[in-house]
Amino acid sequence: MKLYSTNNKNNIVDLRKAVLNSLAEDKGLYMPLDIPMLNDSFLTHLPQYSFQEIAFTICTNLFKDYIPANDLMEIINRSMTFAAPVVNITDKIATLELFHGPSLAFKDFGARFMAQLMSYFNKENNNEITILVATSGDTGGAVASGFYEAEGINVVILYPSGKVSDIQEKQLTTLGKNITACEIDGNFDDCQRIVKTAFLDQDLNQRFNLSSANSINIARLIPQSFYYFEAYKQKRTDDNLVFAVPSGNFGNLTAGLLAKKMGLAIHKYIAATNINKVVPDYLDTGEYLPIHSKETIANAMDVGNPSNFVRMQELYSTLESMRENISGYWYDDNAIKDCMRKVFKDYSYILDPHGAIGFMAAQSFLENNNAEVIFLETAHPCKFIEDVENSISTKVNLPDSIQQLLEKEKVSIKLNNNFQSFKSFLLSKY
Ligand SMILES: *Cc1c(COP(=O)(O)O)cnc(C)c1O
Repeated sequence: MKLYSTNNKNNIVDLRKAVLNSLAEDKGLYMPLDIPMLNDSFLTHLPQYSFQEIAFTICTNLFKDYIPANDLMEIINRSMTFAAPVVNITDKIATLELFHGPSLAFKDFGARFMAQLMSYFNKENNNEITILVATSGDTGGAVASGFYEAEGINVVILYPSGKVSDIQEKQLTTLGKNITACEIDGNFDDCQRIVKTAFLDQDLNQRFNLSSANSINIARLIPQSFYYFEAYKQKRTDDNLVFAVPSGNFGNLTAGLLAKKMGLAIHKYIAATNINKVVPDYLDTGEYLPIHSKETIANAMDVGNPSNFVRMQELYSTLESMRENISGYWYDDNAIKDCMRKVFKDYSYILDPHGAIGFMAAQSFLENNNAEVIFLETAHPCKFIEDVENSISTKVNLPDSIQQLLEKEKVSIKLNNNFQSFKSFLLSKY
């Protein structure tokens, strides 16, 4: 599989390099040079295939002979260890539940697949990879569990002390082995600054083979296309199928667009956002105007300049073609809370704030269109328990896995808020 940089179509690399580097040297994002259509018989017989078989067929089609079938199967079996069920809510609206992985958010799909691919591609190197990640909460949990025990890879996660939820902190600090959690006496921006400085530091680069587990890595995008096929399998009517995608950096939506390019018969995608609505605004006005992100209760989507927008433009180079394929809707916090309350009251379904945005977008779309809509539920409601419980006036049950997690002992390295303490720690640890 060959990929090009969105900053220069002539900058072409193979999959291995794209996965190990995340970002192109020219700072562009990698895009597949060729997105081949899947064969008709596969597409018309989707229900005959298991989720893993779907993933295998897609990867074989994309990677061709690049990774031997046996190795590919192993990568898929190791990373795809949980289901993505579709649950009906109304006769026209269903949800694709993407929160059945270990960190209870859809990011598990991308993080686990990326971990397996990186580990596979690094096998020929004797050099261990050290991944540095700064997290404000959610990404860290998915990366920690995704890379847990990944061969030849160590992960160091920096998180702001006292600024992540209990569940999130335990997800970072209870695994051990190749996962180390550094608790920084500062905020998320401080953690990010330390990681950025580390990537530029000569001593550290000499000593370590540093890498990132960035959300823009193509290895996180590819597996996110699998579940659109899995959802399509469970289509209920002959109506057009539309996906409503709660979006922040637009990785999930871009993965959906890839699925369509591969031949999946999706009528339309809905870009559903909170008040950080630069993409819905773009679809409305034709002007792309990045903003400083604003805080909302759907905070995993508080993004003012979505990194995958350039990839969306690669797929649909004109405003017109993008409008044909994507509609935009956005909602504020009050609407989100109201939606969580109503959906619980009317359908006994507990949404999380991000999923609520997807549900509302589905409703808005159906006001003027006839379709079957599946929206993505991107996180389990217990990850945002306060806002959810306040909205529905009912307790949210914690899954067993989370109850067990909360009983585990936290192990973190407490560090001052400066680069030097982090550097000294890293040099002394490995
Ligand atoms: C990351 C995240 C999103 C946003 O996904 P993008 O692919 O960045 O658009 C939405 N919901 C939850 C719960 C997330 O963690």
